[in-house]
Amino acid sequence: MSPPKKNPARRAEELRAEIRRHERLYYVLDAPVISDAEFDALMRELLELETAHPEIATPDSPTQRVGGTPQDAFPRAAHEIPMLSLENANGAEELEAWLGRVRRVVDDPDALAWVAEHKIDGLSIALRYEDGVLVRGATRGDGAIGEDVTVNLRTVREIPLRVSGKGLPSVVIVRGEVYMTRSGFQRLNESREEAGEPTFANPRNAAAGSVRQLDARITAARPLHFFAYTLLQSDVTSQSEGLERMAEWGFPINPEWRRFEEREPLVAYCLDWQERRHELDFEIDGVVVKVDDLDHQAALGATAKHPRWAVAYKFPAEEAISVVRDIMVTVGRTGKLTPTAVLDPVEVSGVTVQMAGLHNEDEVARKDVRVGDTVVVARGGEVIPQIVRVVPEKRPRGARRFRMPKRCPSCGAEIVRLEGEVAHRCPNASCPSQLRERILHWASRGAMDVDGLGDMLARQLVDKEIVADLADLYDLDAETLAGLERMGKLSARNLVAALERSKSRGLRHVLYGLGIRHVGASAAGALAEAFGSMDALVAADRERLEEVEGVGPTLAESVREFFDAPENRIVVERLADHGVAMTEKRRARASGPLSGKTFVVTGTMSSLSRAGATSAIEARGGKVAGSVSKKTDYVVAGESPGSKLDRARALKVPVLDEEAFLALLGED
Ligand code: AMP
Ligand code: ZN
Repeated sequence: MSPPKKNPARRAEELRAEIRRHERLYYVLDAPVISDAEFDALMRELLELETAHPEIATPDSPTQRVGGTPQDAFPRAAHEIPMLSLENANGAEELEAWLGRVRRVVDDPDALAWVAEHKIDGLSIALRYEDGVLVRGATRGDGAIGEDVTVNLRTVREIPLRVSGKGLPSVVIVRGEVYMTRSGFQRLNESREEAGEPTFANPRNAAAGSVRQLDARITAARPLHFFAYTLLQSDVTSQSEGLERMAEWGFPINPEWRRFEEREPLVAYCLDWQERRHELDFEIDGVVVKVDDLDHQAALGATAKHPRWAVAYKFPAEEAISVVRDIMVTVGRTGKLTPTAVLDPVEVSGVTVQMAGLHNEDEVARKDVRVGDTVVVARGGEVIPQIVRVVPEKRPRGARRFRMPKRCPSCGAEIVRLEGEVAHRCPNASCPSQLRERILHWASRGAMDVDGLGDMLARQLVDKEIVADLADLYDLDAETLAGLERMGKLSARNLVAALERSKSRGLRHVLYGLGIRHVGASAAGALAEAFGSMDALVAADRERLEEVEGVGPTLAESVREFFDAPENRIVVERLADHGVAMTEKRRARASGPLSGKTFVVTGTMSSLSRAGATSAIEARGGKVAGSVSKKTDYVVAGESPGSKLDRARALKVPVLDEEAFLALLGED
């Protein structure tokens, strides 16, 4: 691994400059241009050089401190006890070596115990509570001085503003991690994409960017979470006791921490989470192993950079470097054109990656991905790997910017881009690509679950013009199917049987399977439950649709548009003629004093949330709709109600204020 026979002092200087540049990009600008693994490699090379040639080490070398410079926009917040970095252990061997070192240093190695915790990939913060009240929250910054982001942190729901309980000292300092879940991150990016805003590269950047917003209202709107992991300035005697205490006082603690007295199960815990990390809805990049007993911790002490009593067992990087060979454009079932990068195959956390999603033209332009580019690929929160960034230094000469094609790559129709939409679309309803995707969606698990109807088959059915719409699937017979490529007699018979079985899946699956824009599985379920049959749904006007919980104007309009198109109605009728079930068994509603009454809730109430109001109404047999219509029985209006109140007045629907509403619920 040692670098070419360059003068070590010169190489070290080069590395330091390079590392400082990347630290600034990472910590200050939140815009890293190399992967964590590459950064670690630079750092390791420098450390190795300095260890081999101690005479060239300098006091201001990046190896001597923790990275980061606070931004000037926030007040500075000094940490009484520095927030150090963690030493890394790559792989089980390095972890074993570290454990062995600790054993040799302490006087009573047999009394050693360890606590293992997820290393959450977020942003570390320090919180100060005085007499149980949160008075300050700060980022790590350079470890000695961070940024005072109290106002922002107060908006994070899981950070308690007040804590209490037995043994709570008058001043407590708690450290922990602010993070974003994968699902929250994905939703945030989706809505940013819809709004034409740049998306975040990963949940960590999104969390860090959200906490360091100058406008706390933006922070408040972001799906941030918090786990506490360190308790300072208390009388506990161990890390495990600290975690238990914090939980008792009301801090959120990641429940997956474990205490170990033996090394073997501890190492197994690390390896186990390395495998299972994707089961979690938040990203972890390792396991932090801490010596449990605080006296042991004190005996071990710390270097300027990191404590000697803790180590970060790092998982192999989830990022890798590859080269873009092509940018392909695929046509989805709604006609949306999606650019996809074709990559040189590369392994990312155990999976070979050859494609990366690029969402839309704006995204490609923002990342400026070009054919021939060297790129950093990551498997993050999303199913399809993503291109994190381009490595600009490695761009070949003459690499051309990407442009969306003018014509559909599948059917040749002229591509349109609707006003206010990010996406380009093929407007041709009988476009073969769209049809193929619609078939695959119809057959998918969440929809009609037709086993054996995969990509190859769908392609042939469309290309050979055997299937021109979804209903044609139910005309397929084993003989026709057996004549197709890669189809034996047995698989043909199985497919016919699977199609037969799919007929009884029920309305919610049919609705989802039809692929109506904006109708995901949950909306399909809500519609099916509310209307019970396809006939009732098709007859419903927009207002009626909007009364369904979770159905907003966009969704209602999209449903109407779908059923207003004669060709869609014909397909649905033909599906029904083939015996595809178009009804849904309704779940019995709770009956109670509000049975048969429909409510719309608007504004904020002091004694209960919108969700709380909804469940209170439903528990009493009532129904809650999303918008006001003539069929609304009551509008419940809290503080600063929206246009729904105006509409209620216009339609003369009775309006209840909070007090009247509580009285109706039978509470005061
Ligand atoms: P590093 O920045 O890689 O040196 O690692 C140190 C960082 O790990 C801390 O600043 C925390 O942000 C983070 N971390 C995540 N989970 C934990 C945990 N359970 N205990 C301690 N540190 C953690
Ligand atoms: Zn087309």
